[in-house]
Amino acid sequence: MGNLDQHITGFELWHLSLPVVSARDHGIGRVDGACEIIVLRLSAEGGEIGWGEASPWVVFTGSPEASFAALDRYIRPLVMGRPVSDRAEIMRQASRAVAHCTEAKAALETALLDLEGRISGLPVHKLLGGKCRDEIPLSVSLANPDFAQDRALLDRLRADGVRIVKLKTGFRDHAFDLMRLEALAQDYSNFALRVDFNQGLEPKGALSRVRDIAAFKPDFMEQPVRAPLFGLMAEIRGAIDVPLLADESVFGPEDMARAIHEEICDGVSVKIMKSGSLTRAQEVAGMAERHGLKAYGGDMFEAGLAHLAGAHMIAATPAIDLGCEFYQARYYLAEDILETPFPCNGGAVQVPDGPGLGIRPDVDKLNHYCIAKGRAA
Ligand SMILES: [Mg+2]
Repeated sequence: MGNLDQHITGFELWHLSLPVVSARDHGIGRVDGACEIIVLRLSAEGGEIGWGEASPWVVFTGSPEASFAALDRYIRPLVMGRPVSDRAEIMRQASRAVAHCTEAKAALETALLDLEGRISGLPVHKLLGGKCRDEIPLSVSLANPDFAQDRALLDRLRADGVRIVKLKTGFRDHAFDLMRLEALAQDYSNFALRVDFNQGLEPKGALSRVRDIAAFKPDFMEQPVRAPLFGLMAEIRGAIDVPLLADESVFGPEDMARAIHEEICDGVSVKIMKSGSLTRAQEVAGMAERHGLKAYGGDMFEAGLAHLAGAHMIAATPAIDLGCEFYQARYYLAEDILETPFPCNGGAVQVPDGPGLGIRPDVDKLNHYCIAKGRAA
């Protein structure tokens, strides 16, 4: 067991712009060209390194600039010179030092856990309570405005053994959604189907649209209306016989408590980038489980480093049993940033067992895609 009393002596940041292979439309916005993430590298005086990723989406959680500044300016002084074993206290102080910026805090806790795992020789899932599963079923989202391209993706997914897809709906007219659902039912019926509106429906007419979609019997339907509309979420839940999941309405445990109290959903999409840490994501999932709700392993537009953090968290969280959507590293980024490919095969993510996160980023790739660096430590 390595020495966790050693101090953190390095804090480096990369703001990356990562090219993507196609446009994607979601109810609240479009991604095209590239997505931007922040990568954090912590080093300890003994030479060990810990990595973390913040994956913001500007219309959903916040901007990359906000994540970068939160880490570079406000969180850095809380971390430098502290013992590695101070993880929980560092997280508590970071949560108070800067409001929101949940993606930055997720990156920080990921890097602290990775560093602790590297020093102690333990995988992150063990630091989070121990592994309850070796594999996590993988869902890939279909969000291409050109459905012919999504059909080509579906053929590739089928060949790769992927058996779950999530159709992004509500970014165009209702007929486009129904046409794609009919095509999926007819030509791709061996895929389990989920539907996600990403808040895309206006309140007027939402009920009739969700009823039409529910007729296709997806496993679940996610966040049809805007995040603050808890009353309408509850109304929609009562109007369909398909489980309704909250995503944008529930960031952390505080929102989960309200969602449970107001009975707005049958389940929740748990994301470390929303909750602001892996441990808070576990808390959200645990609250859902205690109230009979389902939990799903959601994500943002992430690279493989954030996928790894999410995979370790889900591996140690029995309540999250609807699979995960860590597909971007393999199916959406032109090139991922890890040294070896993010492990997903046969339609599932394989949880790494090496120390820390198990796989490191490739520093040459970080430098290649870098558009801004943090201050020198
Ligand atoms: Mg969603």
